[in-house]
Order: sequence, then C-alpha cells, then structure tokens
Amino acid sequence: MNLIFLGPPGAGKGTQAKLLSNFSGIPQISTGDILRAAVRDESPMGVRAKSYMDSGALVPDEVVVGIAEERLSQGDCDKGFILDGFPRTVAQAESLSEMLERMGKTITAVISIAVDEEELLERISGRRACEKCGKVYHLVYEPPKDITKCDLCGGILYQRDDDKKETMRKRLDEYRQKTAPLIEYYSGKGLLEEISGTGSIEKIQVQIRRAVEGARCDNP
Ligand code: AMP
Repeated sequence: MNLIFLGPPGAGKGTQAKLLSNFSGIPQISTGDILRAAVRDESPMGVRAKSYMDSGALVPDEVVVGIAEERLSQGDCDKGFILDGFPRTVAQAESLSEMLERMGKTITAVISIAVDEEELLERISGRRACEKCGKVYHLVYEPPKDITKCDLCGGILYQRDDDKKETMRKRLDEYRQKTAPLIEYYSGKGLLEEISGTGSIEKIQVQIRRAVEGARCDNP
C-alpha cells in the first residue's frame, strides 16, 4: 500500500502517519524530517535548505524530489510507503508520478487531513519536540510531565523555529498557494480520501484506517 498524507502544517499528518506506520509496518517518509537531519548535519543540501525552512518557505522542488527518489528506491519501500509532507506542489506530484511509473508502482490513496486555520495556529504554537528522540508533544493537548523534558528519553524539548507565529503564517500562505491545489489534482485522479483532522488522535486514526482499507479494495 502506497500512501500520501496531505494537509496544512499542524494538521497532524506526521502524528497520524507515524501511528499508521507502527500499525502496518510500512515506512513513514517525512521529507521535513530528512531535511531537518540534513540541516543538523550541515550537509551541502542542509545548508541550502536551511534558509528556506527558517523563513517558512518551501525548499526548491528539485531538492525534495531528489530526496524522495533516493528514499523511495530503498528496499524497505518495496512493501509500501507512507509519504508525509511530499509532494507539496503540483510539479512535485508530477515528478512523483514519473518516478513511480519507472519503479512500476502506483498510489493507493491520498489521505487529505483538513483543519481550520484558527485551530492550526493554536496547535502549532503549543507544539514541542524532543531534541534527542523526536517525540512531539503539545503543551495543552498532549503535555509532557515536565514541560522542559521528554517523558520517554529525558531529552530537552524545544520549539521548532518554523513553528513560531510569524513563520507559521508564511507556511500557511505557502500551503494555500502551492500545496492546496493538490487536493483537486488528486481528487481528479480519484485517489483523494478526505478526513477531518479535528477530534481525538485515536478517532482520526480509526477513520484513516477505514479510508485506507476502502481504497485498497478499490485499487488493489
Ligand atoms: P514539515 O516537517 O513537513 O512541516 O516540513 C518542514 C519544512 O521543510 C517545510 O516548511 C519546508 O520548508 C520543508 N519541506 C518539507 N517537505 C517539503 C516539500 N515536499 N517541498 C518543499 N519543502 C519541503
């Protein structure tokens, strides 16, 4: 099963993709996580991507398409993949479709998670991540026992620079202009499964699993 998770920043794509990945044993591929690791390692790609990411802009298509192609050609993707945060532009979607064709693969479904903007801003400003293991918390919805430390590994919790309010507005603008057109793009291909991203994490996960099961019957 080959899935794409689509949605604005803060919709819960990463959380839901990770849960589904743990449940199904299919790898979650987050271009955002791969880029953040490259920034931490100060690789040439990370250095190039950093200024875009810090300002809330999208990283150029050719950079992320290269990342996605390299990751999708690894062996663990043979049984399927969950793309989280890629594609984010129509050009990326076209490149993805060409690369999948070369690999003899197709998309099973595109899970589009919708949340209104007010709620997104509130969610993002309370988000904190562990420096060490990457676990994500929310100061209101999923608070850690100690707001400075990770419950799982004791690592320090931090707020991503691009989760700060001004940067968040830019990320939402980018989403509206460049990523939202993908909803129509994939709907036109009959692949779109729309899920409301409001409600408990568990309930949303149940709806996603149902939608995926339905799509697997339609596109086996
Ligand atoms: P994310 O963790 O998915 O919210 O991504 C964080 C940041 O990484 C985004 O705001 C972009 O700057 C960059 N990024 C991640 N995925 C992509 C993509 N598919 N296309 C362009 N930029 C991306």
